[in-house]
Amino acid sequence: ITLGVASETASGERRVALTPETCRKFVARGARVRVQRGAGLGAGFADAAYAEAGAELVEDAGAALETADLVLCVQPPPAATLLRLREGACVVGLLAPQADPARAEAIARRRLVAFPLERLPRTTRAQAMDVLSSQAGMAGYKAVLIAAQLAPRFFPMLTTAAGTIRPSKVLVIGAGVAGLQAIATAKRLGAQVEGFDVRPETREQIESLGGRFLDLGVSAAGEGGYARPLTEEERAEQQRRLGEHLKNVDVIVCTAAVPGRPAPKIVGAAMVAAMRPGSVIVDLAAETGGNCELTRPGETVEHGGVVVAGPLNLPSQGAVHASEMYARNLLNFVALFLDARAAQAGALAFDWNDELLAKTVWPAPPAQAAA
Ligand code: NAD
Repeated sequence: ITLGVASETASGERRVALTPETCRKFVARGARVRVQRGAGLGAGFADAAYAEAGAELVEDAGAALETADLVLCVQPPPAATLLRLREGACVVGLLAPQADPARAEAIARRRLVAFPLERLPRTTRAQAMDVLSSQAGMAGYKAVLIAAQLAPRFFPMLTTAAGTIRPSKVLVIGAGVAGLQAIATAKRLGAQVEGFDVRPETREQIESLGGRFLDLGVSAAGEGGYARPLTEEERAEQQRRLGEHLKNVDVIVCTAAVPGRPAPKIVGAAMVAAMRPGSVIVDLAAETGGNCELTRPGETVEHGGVVVAGPLNLPSQGAVHASEMYARNLLNFVALFLDARAAQAGALAFDWNDELLAKTVWPAPPAQAAA
């Protein structure tokens, strides 16, 4: 089996799908690994470290990918690159096949076995492969650091010769993986932290991190442990209670999401107008449109003294640890079809009865060979 990794091409992407650590493990499983020179630099991994881990370093993306049986990536390679892969090659990464018709077409034309990892079922067995979770952890952490940086105040309470400084009040909206990490991080910085979510089970999780659960009287647990969209009445009730509360909040970190939909709009323009000048909103949901009506994805804007930041691709800002976690997630996922037997036979062994493979592969599992 030949495994190929090229430099990421999306602008601003610093992560890499293979680290020297996972490279060594793939090599130990009998894979031959080709890495494009410089692919790991943005994430702090030197070419020499890959060479030491048993990789062959090659000059360009073509040499890394075109003969590979298995291609690992973070963001999807351009359609033109996919078209140059070996027919039937396997590609694993955050492939978002539906976001780009040319990419979908390339996957079909080359009969690629594509595993967009954002489709991985979120079951207990899948936890060690769950890139959405590992990357959301970094995003929640960075969002709080950005908020602390933008805020014109301390987060912790300070008792100084110049008087006492009251701690910042931080509200985290949405207590999924990113939100819980944001709560933990803001707490460590000494802020007074509140969180809220529409899934009632988050109360205990927020409290266990030392945060206060903000009860807005709306409960909307949906399927598979996710939230469902709110009804109009529920939304109006949430808005009314929240608007009142925000007048006393210094920092909001927004992380609310509903799978497969634009981010729910939770913080309206009127609520922002009623906040104190000097308040800061960091909207992690900017990627899917934002939880705040005033968020401009990729920009930081100011409205009446309130700063609204909509940073994109936060995991890339923590590329070293984000890549370490991402690469281990991939190693665990690939282990489902690259075992010693597969490596020796020189072919990946997909068991389409395994729901993790069958539900992740896109568009659908290849037709089973006739019995
Ligand atoms: P997500 O990114 O889809 O959403 C973030 C949070 O926003 C969620 O907690 C959601 O309830 C909340 N939200 C949605 N609409 C809202 C609204 N109008 N107001 C306030 N909050 C709102 O979620 P996620 O972080 O990917 O995780 C969601 C669920 O998946 C959790 O139950 C988590 O425990 C579960 N999960 C399971 C596994 C696993 O077992 N493999 C891994 C990760 C997450």
